[in-house]
Amino acid sequence: MSAQQAQVAVVGAGISGLALGFHLQRHGIDVQVLEARERAGGNIRSEERQGYLCEWGPNGWLDNEPATARLVQALGLDDQVVRAGELANVRWIVRDGALRALPLRPPQLLSSDILTLRGKLRVLMEWAQPARRDAADESVFDFAARRIGREAAEVLVDAMVTGIYAGDSRHLSLQSAFPRMRDMEVRYGGLFKAMRAMRRERRARGEHGGGGPMGPGGTLTSFHGGLETVVHALVDKLGTRLRLATPVEGLGRSNGGWSLSLPNAELHAERVVIASPAWKAAPLLRDLDADLAREVGAIPSAPVVVVCLGFSEESLRGVEKGFGFLVPGCEELPILGTLFDTWVFPNRSQPGHVLLRTMIGGARDPNAMEETDDQLIARALAALKRLLGVTADPEMLLVVRHPRGIPQYPVGHPQTLERIDKALAPHSGLALAGNSYRGIAMNACIKEAEALAAEWASAASTDPSGARA
Ligand SMILES: Cc1cc2nc3c(=O)[nH]c(=O)nc-3n(C[C@H](O)[C@H](O)[C@H](O)COP(=O)(O)OP(=O)(O)OC[C@H]3O[C@@H](n4cnc5c(N)ncnc54)[C@H](O)[C@@H]3O)c2cc1C
Repeated sequence: MSAQQAQVAVVGAGISGLALGFHLQRHGIDVQVLEARERAGGNIRSEERQGYLCEWGPNGWLDNEPATARLVQALGLDDQVVRAGELANVRWIVRDGALRALPLRPPQLLSSDILTLRGKLRVLMEWAQPARRDAADESVFDFAARRIGREAAEVLVDAMVTGIYAGDSRHLSLQSAFPRMRDMEVRYGGLFKAMRAMRRERRARGEHGGGGPMGPGGTLTSFHGGLETVVHALVDKLGTRLRLATPVEGLGRSNGGWSLSLPNAELHAERVVIASPAWKAAPLLRDLDADLAREVGAIPSAPVVVVCLGFSEESLRGVEKGFGFLVPGCEELPILGTLFDTWVFPNRSQPGHVLLRTMIGGARDPNAMEETDDQLIARALAALKRLLGVTADPEMLLVVRHPRGIPQYPVGHPQTLERIDKALAPHSGLALAGNSYRGIAMNACIKEAEALAAEWASAASTDPSGARA
């Protein structure tokens, strides 16, 4: 067994580990990124199949995170960036078995058929709801029901939670999953009040646009060649500092640093970042600290199946173009939603062809993962027939399974993070990163990677210290 050395070892080469490795390397730190699989990218993969460009996982990031913009620029990828067009603003939610247009702004809600009149009036009454400013966490659903009423919580907010987390709004933590919404209540007294105040603030700064209460705003962005473009660029930059097919099988203390067990080798590093999902990090921590491993291992995740369906444009005649639709949990439809990829990023298929991606499973239907490809495809096609009237057979099919695809931040997740941080404190030079902890989106992973690399670079001249999640 050979012994090897690095200043920092990064476990996992998803976007978190790759971005971290890249930034550490730019800071002049000797880093090794270790990836169990034979390819880097984790959830991110863009597959060309029969003229379609199928995203296995994420299909883009919002362009409002400076750390992501900096990464794209540093990698020289600016000229490959593609932004979603106007059609991305045309979205639907399924209500009573039919597609209803999602109002983009509160005034459009009044003329919309997405809620009953009573439900709409209750949303508008949000102005008058008292603000809760105590520190207690609550579910996204409870928060929404309290502020905009039960109906809007069940339809609008549950659909949003489905779209982002494939999650159950009744279990997700407001503070961890939608910290911005909580801030709007705490700082401004409510969502409408916050939107008005923030609009004024933006105007005062001479800015336009900005997000609503449901998200941070920004335009969905990707690359002409698909999201994996960023992975390829990071892999190129890391060169021999990235080692594929190298699972980290054990982790222990050694000579004031860390020893990582690799197949047929030991790697000694001053610092270690475990940038794998929490359920994969937990076994590595078990011998080191059973309590820490238990906390980390208890962070749940939801399975997601992505069914990519390629159609000739002719066979989708009559289907309105847009971003796609989401299915809230109160609807009896066994899918989470469908994204109309081609109409968001036109190069996702050849002219005259359209790529749709249907998501199935999530926290509310974990058993979907057990179904055969044919059963999952049948679910997707039945939903498309019912909602869009599509009866044609797809000319391209791809089923991608993510058995523990999206971490879920249940109510109490902020306290879990506090306990993890406390448990990490004695383990100097050890950190946890990735989407299991402080943000599930690519932007959050990239921002965290940049910050952690800067923090460790500035501490590199001193003794290793400062464990954190
Ligand atoms: C279906 C789906 C759709 C999504 N859509 C979006 C979207 O549109 N926009 C968005 O911003 N985000 C989206 N996300 C979330 C986004 O994919 C993640 O935030 C991001 O890719 C997570 O990256 P990561 O590096 O933290 O983890 P991962 O991508 O999970 O990578 C972790 C890596 O660690 C490796 N690993 C694990 N254990 C070990 C070990 N012991 N040794 C070595 N390597 C190990 C794994 O093999 C893996 O490569 C989506 C996710 C899914 C599943």
